[in-house]
Amino acid sequence: MLSIRSVLGWQLSLRRSKWLPLQCLCYSSSAAAVEAERTVREGPRNDWTKPQIKSIYDSPVLDLLFHGAQVHRHAHNFREVQQCTLLSIKTGGCSEDCSYCPQSSRYDTGLKAQKLMNKDAVIQAAQKAKEAGSTRFCMGAAWRDTIGRKTNFNNILEYVKEIREMGMEVCCTLGMLEKQQALELKKAGLTAYNHNLDTSREYYPNVITTRSYDERLETLKHVREAGINVCSGLGEAEEDRVGLLHTLATLPTHPESVPINALLAVKGTPLQDQKPVEVWEMVRMIATARIVMPKAMVRLSAGRVRFSMPEQALCFLAGANSIFTGEKLLTTPNNDFDADKLMFKILGLTPKAPSFSEDETSASEAENCEEAVSSSG
Ligand code: SF4
Repeated sequence: MLSIRSVLGWQLSLRRSKWLPLQCLCYSSSAAAVEAERTVREGPRNDWTKPQIKSIYDSPVLDLLFHGAQVHRHAHNFREVQQCTLLSIKTGGCSEDCSYCPQSSRYDTGLKAQKLMNKDAVIQAAQKAKEAGSTRFCMGAAWRDTIGRKTNFNNILEYVKEIREMGMEVCCTLGMLEKQQALELKKAGLTAYNHNLDTSREYYPNVITTRSYDERLETLKHVREAGINVCSGLGEAEEDRVGLLHTLATLPTHPESVPINALLAVKGTPLQDQKPVEVWEMVRMIATARIVMPKAMVRLSAGRVRFSMPEQALCFLAGANSIFTGEKLLTTPNNDFDADKLMFKILGLTPKAPSFSEDETSASEAENCEEAVSSSG
């Protein structure tokens, strides 16, 4: 067997020989290494340029993964993973044309539109999620916006209040939101509002035509602690993924959470034949997001059901620290609670406890706060 000394001796003798030039024993620094080191040294920044983010994203994938892991370990307890459960409280019949979404009324996906779920059913689902280990409950409604939906909106405020009183973080995704509604949700106890930017500004018209990128950014302006969806796999180029990360990383405050989605192509939608995203593309997105937005919760979201446990482990290593749990993710399949329980055990992960301190401070300031809650829809 070779000892360390003999390996070193062997390397030194090779260096002395003509066969191996000195530079073979040195390693050039990738952009991921340089920028991760800077993030650890300086903390979060929002002056990223697109070329900087692109060069991180293009670093050799194992190096990118390694440095994503370094930033992750610096900014978070690497064993803790937040478990969020996402329930569709108002399904289908949406007027928008998001080309990946089975809930759009424009596509024939066989999904039946339903009215807003009643309080008992929602609270029961939240209780079940809590008992299974979820600490955040997210409610999604398939609406363009909440304008003119006063009764439904007031009901949702009640749901938010009650779930918050159960000791869970609460998140909503209800489409575009006005400032006043953001304030009301905040006062009811909402932790985060999830609003989906989907892709880069340039690629956006290929995905959605019924509302503009600027309209979405306007909602984000109304909500400060945004849980913003980042979606991979819409047929976009790498530049568009980088473009989206650039938009998020240069917001005045980084999103509270950044869900990374791998498209689950649904039959009947315009993206039904889209090629599935590979785990290496997910690793690139996750590690890059981790390096450029070190404090955000990076959530392994839609499409997780397609990845094996070892593939998910790579994603956690790269910097993901949050997942959606529960059998369904709005209307698409998701990993079930028992499979996730087993994965946590095998990978040595621990559930992240809910966090309310910032909520409580902000709640008392809500009336004066212009951009109180942040957004996903
Ligand atoms: S993603 Fe949301 S807004 Fe777009 S079609 Fe689906 S439910 Fe409607």
